[in-house]
Amino acid sequence: MRRWHAEWAWVGGAVLPHVLLEAEGDRFSEVRAGAPAPSDAVRLPGLTLPGFANVHSHAFHRALRGRAQAGRGTFWTWRQRMYAVADRLEPDTYRALATAVFAEMALAGVTAVGEFHYLHHRRDGSPYDDPNAMGRALIDAAADAGVRITLLDACYLRGGFDAPLDGPQIRFGDGTAAAWRDRVAALLDDVPAHATIGAAVHSVRAVPPDEIAAVAAHARAHALPLHVHLSEQAAENTACLAAHGVTPAALLDGADALGPRTVAVHATHLTDADIALLGGTATGACVCPTTERDLADGLGRTGDLAAAGSPLTLGSDQHAVIDLLEEARALELHERLRTRRRGHFTAAELLTALTATGHAALGRPDAGSLTPGATADLVTVALDSVRTAGADPAEAAVYAATAADVTHVVNAGRPVVDDGRHLLVPDVPGALASAIEAVTRPRTEGEERR
Ligand SMILES: [Zn+2]
Repeated sequence: MRRWHAEWAWVGGAVLPHVLLEAEGDRFSEVRAGAPAPSDAVRLPGLTLPGFANVHSHAFHRALRGRAQAGRGTFWTWRQRMYAVADRLEPDTYRALATAVFAEMALAGVTAVGEFHYLHHRRDGSPYDDPNAMGRALIDAAADAGVRITLLDACYLRGGFDAPLDGPQIRFGDGTAAAWRDRVAALLDDVPAHATIGAAVHSVRAVPPDEIAAVAAHARAHALPLHVHLSEQAAENTACLAAHGVTPAALLDGADALGPRTVAVHATHLTDADIALLGGTATGACVCPTTERDLADGLGRTGDLAAAGSPLTLGSDQHAVIDLLEEARALELHERLRTRRRGHFTAAELLTALTATGHAALGRPDAGSLTPGATADLVTVALDSVRTAGADPAEAAVYAATAADVTHVVNAGRPVVDDGRHLLVPDVPGALASAIEAVTRPRTEGEERR
């Protein structure tokens, strides 16, 4: 049995003092407020929260931070830079990069990541000897970094509504939804304890409606989470209306792809009818505020989505920033900018999006709360840093703290971060620097021929 004693902890929707947490194996066995500290308990000064769920990630996009953000250009020119990195990745370099990125997430309090994975095949589009070599590299990377992973394996069949896969995109394609399904079936045969397999449709741009229906049917049959990029850019709506006469959300509905296990990622440019469809089917919406601002996507109608019935979650997506507290804060602050009104989401609602709702969206509803029986994840945030000193503990996490204030992380009963130090990856900045250098330096002649 392991024990922790938190100065403050977020339990049952309230911040309470002196909370004793006990775990047997990977589950909490007892959580009690107002308890004295036993001598064998690890002391957790500050505010202790459930582990954070980073619901939308493309680990390799981290290689573009501070390298593709300055200056002009559009979402689509950024995408060209991203494809250049995708073109460089192989299972070994991808595993090294993802391990470093997931370790950065662990330092920021993330205990589970939803990795939206579409880089499946060799540079010429042919499968690796193990057709899931890239997916397994990500699963191994998460283990090395002490983070659970939901591998959202994405079906990606075409370059646009009327365009074949082109250039680096040929690495993404399985040809048909049936071939995607057969490849994912092999992953489902052998899933390690820290991993969950989910399904994804890259977008309505990348998968035709009948193939979306096939992916959705497979996800339903196996009770897999189903994630899909939705209406991040207004151009997607325009092209979808021109090709099919309906919005992307209506197209997903027609393919029977909406529902409580589905998460629409971004959901930025929605009509009133789209919001009613998502809310009415209890389809989740994962917003990624730091990415959406960096890529000039626009502001989604998050308050309307929540009111309609869509559970909201958060992701750091392209990882221009890995700070889930900043994403949570931005959910409220971006809605203030959009509406010119304050007070859309309470601090407790923002923390719920970051924890319980997020883990459920990743297919793990047993995580995300400090309660007996739940997966024993916890994150402690310092209340005595220059950022948080003097703040009310109930508001400190979402209105004062940053990822730099995370001091302790426990994942399924196992300590991963202690006093701000990653226990499995000793030099996370060094690991990031060398992994990014390996995929951004000019190719050698030998690599060019490979
Ligand atoms: Zn994405």
